[in-house]
Amino acid sequence: MSEWPRSSTVSSQPCTDGAGAMLRGLASFQTTPPTAANRFGLDFREAANSLRPPVCPILDIHAHINGERASVIWWEVAKVFGVSEVYSQVRVQDCEPVRRAVQGAGGKVSFIGFPDFRHPDRLWAWSEGYVEHIARFHNDQGAKVIKLWNAPRTFELFEGDAGRDIIAFDSLWRVRQAEAAQALGMGIMVHVADPDTWFASKYKEQAKYGAKTDHYPALERMMDRFAGPWLAAHMGGFPEDLGFLDGLLTRHPNLYLDTSATKWVVRELSRHPREKVRDFFLKWQGRIIFGSDIVTVDEHLIPTKEEAGKPKHPMADLADSPASAFDLYASRYLALRLLFETDYDAESGIADPDLLMVNPGLGNGLHAPRLRGIALPRESLRVLYRDAAEGFLAKCSRTRSVSNGA
Ligand SMILES: [Zn+2]
Repeated sequence: MSEWPRSSTVSSQPCTDGAGAMLRGLASFQTTPPTAANRFGLDFREAANSLRPPVCPILDIHAHINGERASVIWWEVAKVFGVSEVYSQVRVQDCEPVRRAVQGAGGKVSFIGFPDFRHPDRLWAWSEGYVEHIARFHNDQGAKVIKLWNAPRTFELFEGDAGRDIIAFDSLWRVRQAEAAQALGMGIMVHVADPDTWFASKYKEQAKYGAKTDHYPALERMMDRFAGPWLAAHMGGFPEDLGFLDGLLTRHPNLYLDTSATKWVVRELSRHPREKVRDFFLKWQGRIIFGSDIVTVDEHLIPTKEEAGKPKHPMADLADSPASAFDLYASRYLALRLLFETDYDAESGIADPDLLMVNPGLGNGLHAPRLRGIALPRESLRVLYRDAAEGFLAKCSRTRSVSNGA
């Protein structure tokens, strides 16, 4: 691509930002066939140049950087978009290879404690096995944070009574894991709920999955009981309802949110009036941390995924070559930076299958939602991209008592 379009064909909004002016015409400027991660056929290096360097080096608090080769491609992408370090969630046995690969390429990666979801003894991996791994993450990897993953599809992994001591945030094993983490001074990241689009489709069976708001009371009890600090991923699981998040942040001063899950967050934040989202980010400045949820695996680099005896990673099919993996990872950083830094207001460059999930009438195609940038002030971007994370992480390195009581 030799140059960016200079005029908009997709928006008549007045533009106050240079990068936004150049980027708002993306949809009319295509040089390669569209893909799900790159609907506009962009050269992502040129797109990043158009944005210019971010206000400060960006810290990505939420990603899953796996794979010795894929993690190096992630670092190439990170440099292009001004991301200087990442907190990655991988299995404890995968930390060292990833660290060697990223550091060998000149990058910086830290780790967040994460269960071994692929362990053959699932019950162990989710209960005492994770307590053991939390100690290894802390002692061997210097991890300051653990992840408690509580997406509703946990109810598919542990049906009926099997999940009684495992699933709810305040169930027996979650409490033990929180105690183990807090005794080591570690903070707690959580995944609670899932997009509204999923509750309207694959989680329709309410007797099994509950309603979306049913997922929060147990988390709130835990935030009252344990000092944390707590970090609720994916805009606390509720970018659809900023009023709800406002209540959550007000009731729990020990709670932070991250912006990860790019497609979900872009789609839902862009549905609100721009001023409302902007006001929310300004009000809660310091409690919202930049994260992408980029997932990298070496299977992204090859067309054929199946290796003998090795189960395919659930996200393996999202790319099939080093170039498409680069685009996949780059698309997330571009979309998030457009959202936070510019007043871009047009279709997102990333296809979003959730649109088809709730509206099958759309038919097959690379459908994408609106992306409406909120053009945060520079000093707020600095807080979002770095200061909020540093504030959160500083609270994670203090040794404290196990519980506030209860
Ligand atoms: Zn994640």
